Amino acid sequence: MKKLRSLQSDFEKSQRNEVDRIRKQYTRNSPTEDERKEQNEVDRIRKQKKKKQSVRYRAAQSCENVKVHCLGSMNVECTACAGLHFSEEKVKGKSTFNDCCSHGNCLLEELPVIPDELQNLL
Ligand SMILES: [Zn+2]
Repeated sequence: MKKLRSLQSDFEKSQRNEVDRIRKQYTRNSPTEDERKEQNEVDRIRKQKKKKQSVRYRAAQSCENVKVHCLGSMNVECTACAGLHFSEEKVKGKSTFNDCCSHGNCLLEELPVIPDELQNLL
């Protein structure tokens, strides 16, 4: 049998308030029919994309569709730092490269000579 609110103890009131709070929170957070439809559509599109990606992954596992790409030899030297590059990496009109020394802007000091004991380990 339900007690009258005025006759409830503090503990019972706090329990009732907590249940009300949770119920309101749940009601506020539950999506409307339109929100559910929209979320279903988003999920459907996400699944389609995932399915397409998995097809791409399987294509990458096959060696039948692989096109040979040859970069040639890595024998083009940067005139600023002597780093070696492929000829495809050349920057038009320059003999230096960006990837190694930023066209000579970032040059490192020479490494110190290491002792023979360490040199023998290399
Ligand atoms: Zn360089």
